[in-house]
Amino acid sequence: MKMIYTSEDRFMVWNVKNTLELAGYDCHIRNEFSAGGAGDIAPIETWPEVWIDNEAQFEAAKSYLKTTVLKPASSGHDWVCKQCGEINSSSFELCWSCGHDAKTN
Ligand SMILES: [Zn+2]
Repeated sequence: MKMIYTSEDRFMVWNVKNTLELAGYDCHIRNEFSAGGAGDIAPIETWPEVWIDNEAQFEAAKSYLKTTVLKPASSGHDWVCKQCGEINSSSFELCWSCGHDAKTN
């Protein structure tokens, strides 16, 4: 198991978990109920965490998150290559990884 996301914002943590589950990644939340311990231990250690159950899925899940819930609002035009799944900047017309043309999709 591997932690993929943590935040003091429970809504975001659940949002991340639900998004990953809908995409087929097995994950669960840790520390969901540990906020009561704040004060005794470092606050960041009480944040709820999303853990990927299968480490083999970790990198794919991380990339998926970057293109969905964790996508910065300012980079709204990045696109995901339909051929190889890489994330491309809006300034690229061809996929940097495989050369696939964004417009043909
Ligand atoms: Zn590509």
